[in-house]
Amino acid sequence: MKPRTTREIRIGNIRIGGSNPIAVQSMAATRTQDIAATIRQVELLEAAGADVIRIAVDNPKDVAALAEIRKARPNANLSIDLQENYRLAEKVAPFVQKLRYNPGHLYHLEREKPVVEKVRYLVDVARAHGCAMRIGVNAGSVDPEKVSKYSHDDSITPMLESALEHCAMLDELGFDQYCVSLKDSDPNKVIDANLRFADVRPDVPLHLGVTEAGMPPDGIIKTRVAFEQLITRGIGDTIRVSLTLPFENKGDEITVGRQILDDIATGRFRSVARFEQTGLNIISCPSCSRVENEAFIDLAHNVKEMTQYAKMHDITIAVMGCRVNGPGETDDADLGMWCAPSFVNLKRGPHTIGQFAYEEILDRVRAELDRLIEERARDARKVTV
Ligand code: SF4
Repeated sequence: MKPRTTREIRIGNIRIGGSNPIAVQSMAATRTQDIAATIRQVELLEAAGADVIRIAVDNPKDVAALAEIRKARPNANLSIDLQENYRLAEKVAPFVQKLRYNPGHLYHLEREKPVVEKVRYLVDVARAHGCAMRIGVNAGSVDPEKVSKYSHDDSITPMLESALEHCAMLDELGFDQYCVSLKDSDPNKVIDANLRFADVRPDVPLHLGVTEAGMPPDGIIKTRVAFEQLITRGIGDTIRVSLTLPFENKGDEITVGRQILDDIATGRFRSVARFEQTGLNIISCPSCSRVENEAFIDLAHNVKEMTQYAKMHDITIAVMGCRVNGPGETDDADLGMWCAPSFVNLKRGPHTIGQFAYEEILDRVRAELDRLIEERARDARKVTV
């Protein structure tokens, strides 16, 4: 194990970076406005030993709910997920210890305002309330300007450029209480992106995660591979294991995270140098407050079960819980689904096939999967001839 070289930052009553223990985080999967359910999520995660718990806030009603959640769980280290509505930062900061923003989402509001101004505002809010920050770059929602500069095959360089640009902005503003995350659903890309980032900025603490890793056991395996490759190289100051789980089992993300850390610390490795994905690959998001219909969790499990007959085929199927991130996050899958309140949108690559009721979607997926397998077999026969 190489020693970590990052600087220390404080998140409520814990410190990450430097030689501090690697913190284990998770996120509430329920709608934030469902106060009782979200308090229950926080309780489950605290009971499982979470160091930091993230909650998404998109609108003033979520902020009001957050105030209640904070009252009920006064000792939790809460991190807030600011998505498009970055201006909510000043409203939520009094209740939390950390603000996470996604550089790719700062463009949605006040398009005419320079991004650096928005970052300055976030820094001022974080400073005023003693919050740490996370620059959270996600493969499915990278700054479009950065994406357009590189070929479709290179998804890592735009992520990296975006993260480094925002680090430079925070440095320029004299704010050092921040960490960075670079997430993708492909563990190899997570490894590459974090290795490249740490090479340039060995001082900046990294939060590691394979996003939309899916369901256990596959989701755990993908995450474990990425963590083993990075943590043994001294990279990673906090982690999150993102799994699609029933709400009541959310604490498993923490238990699994601690188990992986423990295995790494004691030399129990399960990965080889590179994760080679062959056969059917199901990716699904861990759900969060934006999930539009709880039936999403059953759907993800049913898709996995129903598609087992195709497990020898190199096909990726993505199942996402909402229309906010679902459309972008499914573009690279062979078949993708994102869930709306009363229907599921089915895609083939970036192209929409149609919208289907929850009761009919499995049959449609099966039909599309059969068609895909048939087409690939036909193409393979042509090559052989
Ligand atoms: S896809 Fe939507 S519901 Fe799923 S984790 Fe991402 S934002 Fe949340």
